[in-house]
Amino acid sequence: MSSAQYRSLKGMQDILPPDIYLWQKVEQTAQRIFSVYGFQEIRLPVMESTSVFTRSIGENTDIVEKEMYTFTDKGARSVSLRPEGTASVVRSYVENSLYNLPAPQKFYYSGPMFRYERPQSGRFRQFYQIGVEAFGDPGAKLDAEVIAMLALLLSFLGLEGVSVQINSIGCEVCRPGYREALITFFSAKREGLCPDCLRRYDKNPLRILDCKASGCIELRQGAPRITDHICGDCRTHFEKLQSLLSLLKVSFSLNPEMVRGLDYYTRTTFEVTSQGLGAQNAVAAGGRYDRLVREFGGPETPAVGFALGIERVVELLKKAAPHAAPVPLVFIASIGDKAGSESLGIAQQLRQRGLWVETGDPSGSLKSQMRRADRLGARYVFIIGDEELLSGRLKWKGLDGSGQGELLFSEIEAFLTALVEK
Ligand code: ATP
Ligand code: MG
Repeated sequence: MSSAQYRSLKGMQDILPPDIYLWQKVEQTAQRIFSVYGFQEIRLPVMESTSVFTRSIGENTDIVEKEMYTFTDKGARSVSLRPEGTASVVRSYVENSLYNLPAPQKFYYSGPMFRYERPQSGRFRQFYQIGVEAFGDPGAKLDAEVIAMLALLLSFLGLEGVSVQINSIGCEVCRPGYREALITFFSAKREGLCPDCLRRYDKNPLRILDCKASGCIELRQGAPRITDHICGDCRTHFEKLQSLLSLLKVSFSLNPEMVRGLDYYTRTTFEVTSQGLGAQNAVAAGGRYDRLVREFGGPETPAVGFALGIERVVELLKKAAPHAAPVPLVFIASIGDKAGSESLGIAQQLRQRGLWVETGDPSGSLKSQMRRADRLGARYVFIIGDEELLSGRLKWKGLDGSGQGELLFSEIEAFLTALVEK
């Protein structure tokens, strides 16, 4: 056991083989799906001025109140590790005048996020998100495309038992009225609220709707529903979204209690949950944020996006099927110095063709080299000793039971190419 000084921090984990292959699968699949919808990758710093997050995410949110890694750098600036991606993307969008590109502008990112939360299954302090943000189109068509793209990604990954929930949380026209309706509803029940919700009551009463405390769940029975309070424009947008999702054959359900933990959302919010996960069952979430670019000093620009938690998706993939890590195509065992050099030359030649080749230790026994080939899971073993050098033929053996034989050195490439193409 290593000393505590040399252990990773609580809530932060190393991602190692073979799990890493699932991570790569998620990232590569996302890249493929996003690119056919015209989303381009952007890479942004993991650290920003603290104000980038406080203003946008909102002062009275869990993230800003409790979860940010904020510190003062050597130049006495307050900086924070990013707890999510959207604020940084919007900061970059405005700073680099990306609104001058033809609309809609569509971007995706992938990388670590940091939140000082209580670590538990599916909840880490450093976790990874893949997210997308699309700017410049106020229509429900963009919401629908973004949601359909997320659903397609999850289906390409082979995830089953996922469900899409959508809601509308209104806009600056209708939300104040709803806020008042909630305050009136909870005013007589205040004593029963949890300490967090007591604070939220004045500042952010919508958040009471997704509090997990059992007392609060009970108290909010019969609370006014946002969807009964949204204005005509928001209603039209929400109805259009539903009809487009049906057209795109994305199944969804309505969840009027889903308010999301960030202040910047307007109109559409959505969440994808999975039955395969425990309490932390949200794999991805997002929504529309039509005011945010303006708040960062950019031109009036509607936008919509989501973020997907990679750890939770990987967890689901692990449950769905044991994932086969890639294995070497060939392991070349050799006996003696000369054969060792020959095998190195062959390996180099094959690697130049893009084939995965491992070589054994020519000073070791054939038995120990075969054991290593086996542990690596190599599909074929080539054996080269003095006799093979003389005859110009090596011995091959298929470790998957596909036979054995001899092969001229000059035939190696053709032999392997045929295998790879099979
Ligand atoms: P939750 O309700 O699970 O706390 P959230 O509303 O805080 O989620 P978002 O900020 O919307 O989450 O982030 C989108 C996704 O990122 C989540 O659906 C989840 O998959 C993932 N995620 C969020 N926080 C964590 C975390 N601490 N550890 C691992 N994944 C996380
Ligand atoms: Mg959270």
